[in-house]
Amino acid sequence: MTLPESFVARVMRDLGAAEGGALCAALDTPPAVSLRLHPRRSSGRLPRVAEGAAPVPWCAEGRYLDVRPSFTLDPAFHAGAYYVQEASSQFVGRLAGDLAGCRVLDLCAAPGGKTTLYASAVGPDGLVVANEIDRRRVQVLADNVRRWGTGNVVVTCAEPRTVCDLEAWFDVVAVDAPCSGEGMFRKDDAARAEWSEGNVRLCAARQDEILREAWRALRPGGRLLYSTCTFNRDEDEGALERLVAWTGDEVAEAEPVAVDPAWGIVEGEVGPFRTFRFYPHRARGEGFFAAVARKADDAAARSRMPRGRRQPTAAVDRAAATELRRWVAAPDRMRFGAAGECCYGWYAAQADAVAALASALPVVYSGVAMGQLFKGRLRPDGALALFVGLERGALPSADLTEEEALRYLRRQEIAAAPLAEGMNLVCCDDRPLGFAKRIGGRVNNLYPNAWRILKS
Ligand code: SAM
Repeated sequence: MTLPESFVARVMRDLGAAEGGALCAALDTPPAVSLRLHPRRSSGRLPRVAEGAAPVPWCAEGRYLDVRPSFTLDPAFHAGAYYVQEASSQFVGRLAGDLAGCRVLDLCAAPGGKTTLYASAVGPDGLVVANEIDRRRVQVLADNVRRWGTGNVVVTCAEPRTVCDLEAWFDVVAVDAPCSGEGMFRKDDAARAEWSEGNVRLCAARQDEILREAWRALRPGGRLLYSTCTFNRDEDEGALERLVAWTGDEVAEAEPVAVDPAWGIVEGEVGPFRTFRFYPHRARGEGFFAAVARKADDAAARSRMPRGRRQPTAAVDRAAATELRRWVAAPDRMRFGAAGECCYGWYAAQADAVAALASALPVVYSGVAMGQLFKGRLRPDGALALFVGLERGALPSADLTEEEALRYLRRQEIAAAPLAEGMNLVCCDDRPLGFAKRIGGRVNNLYPNAWRILKS
């Protein structure tokens, strides 16, 4: 499918014939394939797909792959050893700076590429609120958050204005805005087909609304990250110009971001915002625009949490609490609670914040689902296997071959021999995948039905 005519005309006009021509030519070449490694699951031992892969220069965990493997048929993918993420997008990690212990709002979060990056960066003392407006997409986001297993994310499904009623509550607010998607023209024919001048105008108006809401949620001194996957000036610099005009002297410069000129990123400024453009003919990645600024320390704002309406979670009984504590490596750093039959764990540092959020917003998932109460007994949840804070010695582990692991991930029968009697943690290449229970010569495959591989 050819590039939209008026897109080509605009690019030629804005960038000039040589630069515009190079951009359009690059959009007709194959896209780069890249992933981002899980820092807790790949240190010292790379997943096989990433062995020998070239690093993404602006992201320590980023890797370019020479070919696109079948990620679905790689057990390491299901173990959350990496997230398949476009290289340019990984730049937001550099833009965000040191996030340890921060509260981050990822306002347009599905499917969760950037959420997982922020979740690793904030660590167990921090919290990421990952919001997605679309009810179908929020389920994919929640699955990716479970698989990443950091246990420090709250997934919500709400309009930006509802989430941003948490005024001045976040250290960082990230708006990865819905956009006209010109940067996806190389990867995705649908992006070319759906593009129109009218849609660009619609996107720009929607971005203005989202940014205004985002600004309310940011605390004085906090950082706003804005990004799109389009080249369109009206949706990129234009959106920031309109925000700066509206917020006036409440916007301040953020800390400098170190960028090596060899990376091919085009830097710019919009008032106090530092901007970064990725063109596929200059940088190795898809089209991307990212910007950062701060809310001034003296900006008028008062931290506010809307009054809770929803039922908070219930306490767990003593027997369940003892079992839950046994399953995690640092029980004193965690708190536990129940919602219906499911028991959850949250890091203590943010547990009060999570409870307050749960009473004020529609929460789809939070912390780590630890286990289900089943006939009065606690059965470990699939998400617990993928939790980075799992106590590996709590249950016997069975390490399966890749072939047998794929049978497990398809919820097919697996051989009993590698498993101990009773509940087992099922692993492949020493990376946990889920649970299975051996009863004599029979194995009950407990891999969640919703996650099973359907591809043959
Ligand atoms: N941050 C995601 C990632 O890294 O995987 C990608 C986000 S995508 C570019 C933009 C998201 O914004 C989509 O999931 C879309 O459903 C959502 N969205 C659409 N309309 C929205 C609106 N009016 N307000 C907030 N989000 C919206």
